[in-house]
Amino acid sequence: MCGIVGYIGNDNAAPILLNGLKRLEYRGYDSAGMAVWQKDRTIKLIKRTGKVSNLAACISIDKEDAGVGISHTRWATHGGVTEANTHPHVSWDQQIHLVHNGVIENYQTLKNSLESKGVTFYSETDSEILANLIAYNLQQLDGEITTKTVYKAILTSLTNVEGTYGLAIMCASLPGTLFGARKGSPLILGVGKNEMMLASDASAIRARTNEVVYLDDNQIVTLTEDNFSITTIEEAEVVPEISTISWKDEDAELQGFEHFMLKEIYDQPAALENAFRGRLDMGEGISKFGGLNLSRQDIRRIDRITIVACGTAWHAGLVGEYLIEKYSRIPVEVEYASEFRYRNTPMDKNTLVIVISQSGETIDTLEAQREAQRKGYHVIGIVNNVGSTIARENDGGIYQHSGPEIGVASTKAFTSQLLILAMLSIYLGRTRDLSYTDGCQAIKAVMELPNLVKQTLQLADSIKGIAKKFAHYDDFLFLGRLEMFPIALEGALKLKEISYIHAEGYPAAEMKHGPIALISEKCPSIVIVPDDETLKKNLSSVQEVRARNGKVIIITDSNEIPSSLADELIIVPKAHDCVRPVLMTIPLQLLSYYIALELGRDVDKPRNLAKSVTVE
Ligand code: GLU
Repeated sequence: MCGIVGYIGNDNAAPILLNGLKRLEYRGYDSAGMAVWQKDRTIKLIKRTGKVSNLAACISIDKEDAGVGISHTRWATHGGVTEANTHPHVSWDQQIHLVHNGVIENYQTLKNSLESKGVTFYSETDSEILANLIAYNLQQLDGEITTKTVYKAILTSLTNVEGTYGLAIMCASLPGTLFGARKGSPLILGVGKNEMMLASDASAIRARTNEVVYLDDNQIVTLTEDNFSITTIEEAEVVPEISTISWKDEDAELQGFEHFMLKEIYDQPAALENAFRGRLDMGEGISKFGGLNLSRQDIRRIDRITIVACGTAWHAGLVGEYLIEKYSRIPVEVEYASEFRYRNTPMDKNTLVIVISQSGETIDTLEAQREAQRKGYHVIGIVNNVGSTIARENDGGIYQHSGPEIGVASTKAFTSQLLILAMLSIYLGRTRDLSYTDGCQAIKAVMELPNLVKQTLQLADSIKGIAKKFAHYDDFLFLGRLEMFPIALEGALKLKEISYIHAEGYPAAEMKHGPIALISEKCPSIVIVPDDETLKKNLSSVQEVRARNGKVIIITDSNEIPSSLADELIIVPKAHDCVRPVLMTIPLQLLSYYIALELGRDVDKPRNLAKSVTVE
């Protein structure tokens, strides 16, 4: 959450910072601000509540601006959405300007202590303490303000704070230098030609350079326009590793679509192909993964799997549980990362831990990974964002290769996680009881999936019509059995996220144990009915809803269901059960998208949400 962009170089900083903020806006859009050096050696500070466009509207690209600045788009944790609470924050003596992503947990104690020494505060944020603490520690160092003294003041301050931070810092006495630091919140250094950048993620940097250094926790970076140096908080020098971003800047653009969510729904055939490219062996009827760092013997020894994730990725994990247990018979548990981290889950010696995170920066998932590693478990990650912290720290992993996902509501990243879990279940199955023939059928189904998704996308117009009819209900039930139950959960989540309509996902048969009380002509149900052994049971659930005057939308791959049985019938192409969850997801994505559109919601920036949850 929250986006940070810093720039130091030959060009005017303001437009570069603004472009970077626009790219990072999915990380938070409560308010935005920037501090830019002027040619007269003063710093111009501009802050606005609301979206980055509000900030952009009041920034004149001034000839007096110089090539150094920091900026921020906020997702408020401490203090309301006001201009005073908007970053950058400035120390009481006007020396330190900084932007912060994260939470300073001991800010109140530190604030009391500084206030008792005469330091004044103007905001309610936890972040302002950092600016004042650094400025205060700088004042304690005698003599001229230099890069070295500011660095020292930052170092001393950071050893006193508890919590998480990604920081970009400027000092009013040092026009040609920027500082960055991170602990628990992502920060990337972009290395350009006569320019350097700092950002929370690569999308803010890609337009200027594809060379980046992913900073690790407890590192501080000092930047000038043509140089940088990194140390640890213990002042040890770090030899930087420069990585190359593989995707193009245009991949993070709308490319003619009205919203990123819609673009990403339509990206899915390509994203799914990217997820399986080079990972299928039709000859052996098996999938293969290069980076698990597990020998065949290790794989054979796994006697339990714990999947750890949050939100949509947790739903993918639940589908993974059904598929892995079905194909490999390995027992699987799925945990919320935020619970796993603190509840000391009992696990067997040969448990494999799988963490799933699109951004690779989800703080709860990252900390759960660290907890599992601390206890000696082998952790593999399913991650989209190459070079992210989870990907760098785990013991092995599978990259999704979905390309940048900008829409706050996850679509293509979710279906690619589903596909990777399906391929993983085939792989694990083939090391156990899954036959060659069954393996070949599943692999063939994976290869055919992108085409089936393309066919499913052709339902968009009819789903748009259904959305118009159903947009004005206040409550929805989503029902599904077995692996369609997590798909029902995901359908309900998608609707909640972007349309703000109350929706609940339930295992279809569980409806009778409570949620049936909600059913009336005012609460429609969306029932996922796969053409399998549960079909008749699901149709009984449909009848039970209709008997209570509930409207029903059926999503199915059966051609045998009479249209009279539902108010709306959405038929997707038939597919093997390992990829069917993907196909059932597509109509749910389109339905929530068009309902949100019908209600005039801000689809890509739904209220209160942000992508990449980097605070606890
Ligand atoms: N805790 C800080 C605030 O509330 C930073 C939040 C963020 O990461 O955006 O301003």
